[in-house]
Amino acid sequence: MTVQITYENWRQISETFDHGDDTKGASSIIDWAYSTYSEDEIVYASSFGAEAIVLIDLISQIKPDARIVFLDTGLHFPETYEVIDQIEARFPLLRIERKQPALSLDEQAAQYGPDLWLRDPNQCCHIRKVIPLQETLAQKKAWISGLRREQSPTRANTEFINKDDKFMNVKICPLIHWTWEDVWAYIKERDLPYNKLHDHHYPSIGCRPCTQPAGTDGDSREGRWMGSSKTECGLHTR
Ligand code: SF4
Repeated sequence: MTVQITYENWRQISETFDHGDDTKGASSIIDWAYSTYSEDEIVYASSFGAEAIVLIDLISQIKPDARIVFLDTGLHFPETYEVIDQIEARFPLLRIERKQPALSLDEQAAQYGPDLWLRDPNQCCHIRKVIPLQETLAQKKAWISGLRREQSPTRANTEFINKDDKFMNVKICPLIHWTWEDVWAYIKERDLPYNKLHDHHYPSIGCRPCTQPAGTDGDSREGRWMGSSKTECGLHTR
């Protein structure tokens, strides 16, 4: 019998999942997620980075027509749009929505001035990412995310199931125990398409103006908002 998670008992349930299997617990938690929540109650918010490719493949083995949302800020690299097209061709049953912000880039520039990301990246992320995800999650009880504990110090305490105070629901993170090497071994073994910027020292890929190549060790997200104190777009912080 499936145990229904509530906003309060997330940690207790999270700790019942074993991560000693081939997918480090990811397949079990995905299976649990799609048997606990109906297709209208859960969505995977995907960045289409390397972790996303793994998650999409694992999810489609359990829920081939899963709903996926991509926060299309209008500022992504061409390589990111390319990999989305490739994923759509490889997994034709998936329902991928490209969610756009209410403000176009021109409207944002008219209201807040040009290149808002240079002057106030938090405001820019709020308009182009946080509000669109808020709208998507308004009718949902849970969402899936590709966070890994190893990714950065800000993600080191992520659980399989997390109480999400920001969006007032439950955030499910199947890949918390995966290493960067695990991710790439899986992509190669399954011959999956991936964002070609990963071959050019971009471990973490966000919007074009805010993503630089990063070093090969340490924080894989160091290329994001380089030179500023910002480390997260606001989707995973309160
Ligand atoms: Fe704006 Fe940069 Fe955030 Fe993208 S990552 S929404 S360009 S501040």
